[in-house]
Amino acid sequence: MDESLLNGAFQELHSAQRVLVISHIRPDGDAVGSLLGLGLSLQALNKEVQFVLSDGIPVIFRHLPGSDQVRKQANGNFDKIVVVDCSDLKRTGDALTNQPVPDINLDHHPTNTEFAKYNLVDVKAVATAEILAEYLPKFGFPVSSQVANALLFGMITDTLGFRTFNMTPKALELAAKLMEAGGNLPGLYQRGLLNKTFKAARYWGAGLSNLEREGRIIWASLTLEDRRIVKYPGRDDADLINFLSTIEDTDIVIMFVEQGNGIVKVSWRSQPAYDVSLVAMHYDGGGHSAAAGASIKGDLKDIQANVIAQTKTMLGMM
Ligand code: AMP
Ligand code: MN
Ligand code: MN
Repeated sequence: MDESLLNGAFQELHSAQRVLVISHIRPDGDAVGSLLGLGLSLQALNKEVQFVLSDGIPVIFRHLPGSDQVRKQANGNFDKIVVVDCSDLKRTGDALTNQPVPDINLDHHPTNTEFAKYNLVDVKAVATAEILAEYLPKFGFPVSSQVANALLFGMITDTLGFRTFNMTPKALELAAKLMEAGGNLPGLYQRGLLNKTFKAARYWGAGLSNLEREGRIIWASLTLEDRRIVKYPGRDDADLINFLSTIEDTDIVIMFVEQGNGIVKVSWRSQPAYDVSLVAMHYDGGGHSAAAGASIKGDLKDIQANVIAQTKTMLGMM
């Protein structure tokens, strides 16, 4: 990344007193880890920090230090607004209403729309938390054990335990530094990637029971009814897609999750030869080459047929 841009952004953060830190709707481990890691480091420098997620903090992330400070709406005036792990401004939800253009956009998505004054986008970083793990200490922002745990959680979850194809030696070195600073790798791994609630396991059952294959594409869906029957509390797929990605002889996995209000959340995962972010962008979504998503309005069955056909066409799998 451009050194002078980095310098400028982090110097501005040093001189700010009131800082708003925000990340994306339907927050994942990197969104929450980056938000908390940066915010707690700024608080250690006696800055006033507001932590905002427009969907609030999901129950599964409430073990992370600082998670009790997260609110759903920004309130007040800020010297600096920092958006983390967010490829475009729409992904912040409606939490930034009445706020000016963000100052710093810190992200690793190739589909980032560069919406802030300082756009610090490193597409080689495996997680936004990796960028913070590298630059917070370089620019004199403290990395306490709480900050280290938040950032390590972001890195572990976005890489599915350091096993995604974008992994680098640098990411492992930075993760090791976070461990040295007090990050509890086995504990975070267990909570972020292995633990499942009983309800989530039954919800997986509903998805697995309708799993389909055509050539090297597989897909499954989760309806509102599936969610109601097992009383699953989230609007997500309970990470079922990451399990489906382990099925042999498969290049593309697609997951459809009914959201209510006529929206279906679509997620893609792919083997390295295929860039599914292209297909997600066709539906006004985004993401990475190997993991992308979009929210599409319409009927589940229609969307399923349309998305599968479009995925095959765009990725030359006919
Ligand atoms: P998901 O399928 O939600 O697990 O997301 C996979 C990747 O795609 C993540 O990096 C998300 O940040 C990104 N992503 C998911 N949905 C969208 C969307 N509607 N717009 C832009 N990026 C998205
Ligand atoms: Mn994310
Ligand atoms: Mn991320």
